[in-house]
Amino acid sequence: MIVVLALDTPQEVLDAVRDRIESHPGLTAQVFNGVQRIVVGVLGSIPPDLKDELEVIPGVTEVVPISKPYKMASREFHPDNSTVTVGDAVIGGPEPIIMAGPCSVEDEEQMVSTAKAVKAAGAKVLRGGAFKPRSSPYSFRGMGVEGLELLSIASKETGLPIITEVMSPADVDTVARYSDILQIGARNMQNYNLLDEVGQLDKPVMVKRGLAASYEEWLLAAEYVMAGGNTQVILCERGIRSFESSTRFTLDVAAIPVIKRLSHLPIIGDPSHSTGHWYLVSPVALAIIAAGAHGLLVEVHPNPDVAKCDGPQSLTFENFRSMMDQVKAVSGVTRIMAATT
Ligand code: PEP
Ligand code: MN
Repeated sequence: MIVVLALDTPQEVLDAVRDRIESHPGLTAQVFNGVQRIVVGVLGSIPPDLKDELEVIPGVTEVVPISKPYKMASREFHPDNSTVTVGDAVIGGPEPIIMAGPCSVEDEEQMVSTAKAVKAAGAKVLRGGAFKPRSSPYSFRGMGVEGLELLSIASKETGLPIITEVMSPADVDTVARYSDILQIGARNMQNYNLLDEVGQLDKPVMVKRGLAASYEEWLLAAEYVMAGGNTQVILCERGIRSFESSTRFTLDVAAIPVIKRLSHLPIIGDPSHSTGHWYLVSPVALAIIAAGAHGLLVEVHPNPDVAKCDGPQSLTFENFRSMMDQVKAVSGVTRIMAATT
């Protein structure tokens, strides 16, 4: 349920609304100052008479029940788009933000050269996995904390903020010390203990869509993080399982406009894991941007042939530059169309 008030509502009225909500055990009030109105969100199990109790408070414009099972992540709760800022990147704003780097951190030279190359081509965030979820226990599973140190060196050299995956609740504090955005991987989208843990942070979290997750399940995963108090959440469409084997997964391009209707959270797309092949990354990246996504997560490696993980889907520096030129052209057209329709 949300309580809608005018922008110039006096503090006493806001306090009265909050007190009324929080007089019910288990309910909390969350205030959002929007562009056109103030919205107070009611979190918890709503008692039947609460709507009537709040409607009679002078100054309350409207009390609207939220129909979706996810509340804080819903567009009903927060009608304006939300943005997440890291470094000089605003994710959720008009400019698509490109996050790029290798699948996994391998050594200092690989990280620093990739960071410099992707920055020069226009990327605003550096990616690199130190804790890798692998289908086989015998595959390279990442360098762990040593990998985080190398990410940090590359970040200091270039000024690029870092996104990296955290796989276990026990590692959240360590990964948070080294990163600017914590990534929840597709396989962990429904690891509720992990979502609870990152919900305690004051640091952005990117929730990738699970391999077979519906939009509702995905938004409920975001809701877990937000319910813990962390509202800096980004979503990432990375493809879902289908019967098709020419691509690694099937990118669900409709997820982008649908999620933008259902939620105020920024959404980006991953053309690397969704396709599995470097030669499909650019065309799918363009489709993601044309569909209105707020950015991309792209794998780039100095020498994909010898990458320890996901070489076949990694772009060379040159291919990344060429993709960026095309992305800039398409995002320019998308912006003109958005402004004129
Ligand atoms: C990744 O981005 O490094 C990754 C493992 O992706 P996903 O969780 O989408 O498979
Ligand atoms: Mn990868």
